[in-house]
Amino acid sequence: MNKQDWTEKQVLKQPVTTLKGVGEATAEDLSLLGIETIEDLLFHFPYRYEDYRLRDLAEVGHEETVTVEGTVHSEPLLRFYGRNKSRCSFKVLVDRYLITAVIFNRPYVKRQVKVGRTIRLSGKMDKHRLQLTVQHYQWTNRAGQNEEDEGLLPVYSVTGKLKVAQFRKWIKAALRDYAAFIPEILPQSLLERYKLLSRSAALQQLHFPKDWQEGKQAKRRFVYEEFFLFQLKLQALRKRHREQVKGLAQHYDHQKVERFIQSLPFKLTAAQHRALEQILDDLQAPYAMNRLLQGDVGSGKTAVAAIALYASVNAGYQGAFMVPTEILAEQHYLSLKRFFAQDNIQLALLTGSSSSTERREILAGLQLGTIDVVVGTHALIQEDVFFKNLGLIITDEQHRFGVEQRRRLRRKGAAPDVLLMTATPIPRTLAITAFGDLDVTVIDELPAGRKKVETYWVREEMLDRVFRFMQNQIDQGRQAYVVCPLIEESDKLDVQNVLDFHAELSQAFPQYRVGLLHGRLGSSEKEETMRRFAAGEIHILVTTTVVEVGVDVPNATLMIIYDAERFGLSQLHQLRGRVGRGEHQSYCILIANPKTETGIQRMQIMRSTHDGFEVAKKDLALRGPGDFFGTKQSGLPEFKVADMIHDYRALEVARKDAAALINHPSFWEKEEYAPLRAYLEEQLRAEAKLLD
Ligand code: ADP
Ligand code: MG
Repeated sequence: MNKQDWTEKQVLKQPVTTLKGVGEATAEDLSLLGIETIEDLLFHFPYRYEDYRLRDLAEVGHEETVTVEGTVHSEPLLRFYGRNKSRCSFKVLVDRYLITAVIFNRPYVKRQVKVGRTIRLSGKMDKHRLQLTVQHYQWTNRAGQNEEDEGLLPVYSVTGKLKVAQFRKWIKAALRDYAAFIPEILPQSLLERYKLLSRSAALQQLHFPKDWQEGKQAKRRFVYEEFFLFQLKLQALRKRHREQVKGLAQHYDHQKVERFIQSLPFKLTAAQHRALEQILDDLQAPYAMNRLLQGDVGSGKTAVAAIALYASVNAGYQGAFMVPTEILAEQHYLSLKRFFAQDNIQLALLTGSSSSTERREILAGLQLGTIDVVVGTHALIQEDVFFKNLGLIITDEQHRFGVEQRRRLRRKGAAPDVLLMTATPIPRTLAITAFGDLDVTVIDELPAGRKKVETYWVREEMLDRVFRFMQNQIDQGRQAYVVCPLIEESDKLDVQNVLDFHAELSQAFPQYRVGLLHGRLGSSEKEETMRRFAAGEIHILVTTTVVEVGVDVPNATLMIIYDAERFGLSQLHQLRGRVGRGEHQSYCILIANPKTETGIQRMQIMRSTHDGFEVAKKDLALRGPGDFFGTKQSGLPEFKVADMIHDYRALEVARKDAAALINHPSFWEKEEYAPLRAYLEEQLRAEAKLLD
């Protein structure tokens, strides 16, 4: 960086208290918003605008929200009614119109209203009665003054004692004094290619656009910048990871792995083969694998994971398989046990409910290397867990783990290979955004002969018929899940809960054993119930979404979901994936009385769509990405102005541009890219700190 840039940066890094009118108390409130410096302040963007542009009444439509200015033309009339309710009205002459201004619940206005005073009013205009219901008013000395409050005014999120109006003033002052110091970060070539505003012009216009068009142009510039910088960082990380981080070259015996695959009770699908090939290549290669394996429920990810673990153990390393719940850990443990039945692989299960003796033995085994593969929950990332030679880490339902948790597991080995699995199909745009530093493999095919889960949507009034259908299935020897949104009755929500419904079903079906499962049960109780359901001792399992992930009971053929409109589509799809895992035709019945058009659409999507990726795409369109992942820890970046759904085209473009740039030798030399290089350096340094 040259000297001039350096000083510019310093100027912007001055504390907010440098601004006139910003004292220590204010600075404290500002710091709650993450604003410490002038630069932070300038980059605190408005989330919407209020239109205070003065309007010519002749052009205003009925019921439109407007701002007008005029002179008071009558004495005020104040009326009280109800409790603490009041209505003050007076005439105002606006151009050639005599309108009635009505101000509710602000009785003190009466004292201020004097015939002849100039007032500016904002509110909703009833054009027929020429009556303005005032939301906001301001006394002015004469028309044309108070230009502070004209135009499109930005609205900011503020906290504490801060007021939006003050905030505007500070931003305005900061823009006036410091806008010139805001350095451009994007290269000229990209600005020209996409006709983007300069950074300082865009900043000015984003805060105080003259019209909507200006606001839009400013936003477009920052959307691109955010995506571009984010992608640049991801691409750089990925490049560096490949080049610098020495991973393990796991040399396994190809023939033995091939024989292991042959020994499985089924033939791998073509998609499983493809995925496996990539994973095994990564294992052998001297870099650390960092791969996301996506596949619909039942697509056979666990089988692929088992083969990878086999290869890693064969190469002389240990494997760790981390899952979010104990039930799932138990199941994966059991299926790995079956997969490895013929092999001399030492397998262990470590969860929060392992006894202290068990735990001690397992920890010793991991440290000594006598245990080859451990399946477990968060218990795996405790401080006192050490591996002798950890080579492969697999996490299932990876979006349920935070970035930090995965990192902690990774640090238990020396650059182990990492495979993240997810059954939540993530649409491509999201995947490349959230996981741009990962390689992505998709298993897009189900094993042959899998029957579609027939899906029906019924209204609550049809419950009797649903019960008869359930009875029919159970009499044929099958089992059923019934999922409710809540654990117990809530006075706020009129929604089914497992406690009541469990009681109701137990009474309605005395001949069946009805089980109960929810998150508030102790883990041994949960496991016992799951075990009994899996063993066929329980016919109907009434449960919350704790069964959502991974549970595998092939004899269960019926999934009933109560108040289905309360779940996300991807979640419904996950739940539906609990059935259809055996030889029998399976069914999913959604009970829902949706009240909105979207609600109806959602049920129809579930009825007609069986492909998880399709469901996810539609879900995303209806709900947005935050909800989609359900957790802030997902590693999904938060953008200030950009929106991954609406701006996905910009995202794709920015990604391509970033990749092209980072892989071009001139990027590391040309002056034009110096600010970007500085930015990257800073980002990567921060990242390195996190990784330590
Ligand atoms: P996922 O983890 O993707 O949900 P699993 O690996 O649990 O899927 O597989 C679901 C079921 O299908 C398991 O019972 C598994 O043994 C079986 N399975 C896996 N791969 C195949 C295959 N290629 N052909 C037939 N069955 C398979
Ligand atoms: Mg699975």
